[in-house]
Amino acid sequence: MQKLLEKIYLTNKEAISKGEKASYIPALAKVSDSLGLAVRDHSSIYTAGDTEFKFTFQSISKIILLLVALQDSNTEDLFNHVGMESSGDSFNSISKLDFTHVIKPYNPFINSGAILVASLIKGFSYQEKLKKITSLCETIFQRDSISFNEEVFTSEKNSAYRNRALAYLLKEKNILKGDVEEILDLYFKCCAIEVNCIDLANLGYFLSINKHSTIPNKHFQIVKALMLTCGMYDYSGEFAVKIGLPSKSGVSGGIVTCVPQRMGIGVFSPRLDSKGNSILGIKCIDELNKALHLNIFR
Ligand code: GLU
Repeated sequence: MQKLLEKIYLTNKEAISKGEKASYIPALAKVSDSLGLAVRDHSSIYTAGDTEFKFTFQSISKIILLLVALQDSNTEDLFNHVGMESSGDSFNSISKLDFTHVIKPYNPFINSGAILVASLIKGFSYQEKLKKITSLCETIFQRDSISFNEEVFTSEKNSAYRNRALAYLLKEKNILKGDVEEILDLYFKCCAIEVNCIDLANLGYFLSINKHSTIPNKHFQIVKALMLTCGMYDYSGEFAVKIGLPSKSGVSGGIVTCVPQRMGIGVFSPRLDSKGNSILGIKCIDELNKALHLNIFR
């Protein structure tokens, strides 16, 4: 495994400057070019490249929001507020949400859905809700503290015109309950959690084994099914056909992949394709998949 990761790293690292970094959150455009890969299986963790390099969690945090919200509401109730269908639209799409017949966001992994999911997390205060999220992250990443990239948090908060529009549209339609700005802060704060590839591999592994004292098996199944159908933006269908592994991408360039009952994969490279997925991230996962026959539909 170690040799395979190093080979994949070496063959791909020449291309680390191809593609565009996300720039709609200004601080994300400043991240240096890099490539890191990590795999966690039942016995060990394997790494290659810039695996200690810290980047922000972004959309991958939607997995944690969903796991926490599922614990706070029953499954049926949660999916009364947010759907489980892929939208076929970009992650921050607003158009379909404004149709009169639309009574909930399409799924928990598009921005409108994740903002709604964040609103379902219970707690007496913002700090208590955030603590639930960071505590679960500490367990999954096997760390005793979680840090935030305050520059990215502020940069996103100050430029989030579209997310604010989504949230206020949900509020106007009476779908979103609660203080919109506080819910958005919770959402932005989760997007600004600092992670590295090893954290993502640990997350993929955590999802792969379905074992946790307070998270029922059913919640793991829901999260993985949604990762497979909606985790890679509007490339999710093609990714499922070509690679066939539950995965979740973020605009900072991270991808977490889960190989059920077998391993977790974390990849980071900040340059993105036109759908918002890390170009080298997808390439490295594809190469690992081909070498190790990981596709769940094989
Ligand atoms: N913080 C980002 C946003 O809401 C997350 C998007 C993503 O990673 O897909 O725009």
